[in-house]
Amino acid sequence: MDQVWRTRQDFECDDGWFALLWHLSAELETLIAALPEQEQGAYAPTNVKEKFGALRFYMTRCTAEMDHAITRAEGQSIHMCEVCGQPGTRLIHDELILTRCLDHTPAQSEPWQPWPLEWLASPEERRTSPSNRTMLRREE
Ligand SMILES: [Zn+2]
Repeated sequence: MDQVWRTRQDFECDDGWFALLWHLSAELETLIAALPEQEQGAYAPTNVKEKFGALRFYMTRCTAEMDHAITRAEGQSIHMCEVCGQPGTRLIHDELILTRCLDHTPAQSEPWQPWPLEWLASPEERRTSPSNRTMLRREE
């Protein structure tokens, strides 16, 4: 993954999504390598994190194919426990949203509730075009 991860990165999510990120990185590496050599340096991940129980993956620049791969991985993350990678459910409790399997759902006096899938992306989170992904880092 030298091409994709050639600079220091901040991973702000748990290890359960490692395989997901590994496959996405391999896919992005292939897509970057297919670009003209003088353009390849402009494409790099800048931030990887968990937000609202879902993976968020940001690039300096992004082609439509890269955006498609990232969107697919982000969509898969909400069905995968962020701690262990086993099948999971996106849950909400007290405004905290997590994607967890049964074993890794934190104990609470009030039970966690499933979080509806149609809330995957808020309007400001949803990218309408690949160019929307060109910001270096999005502030919370
Ligand atoms: Zn788990």
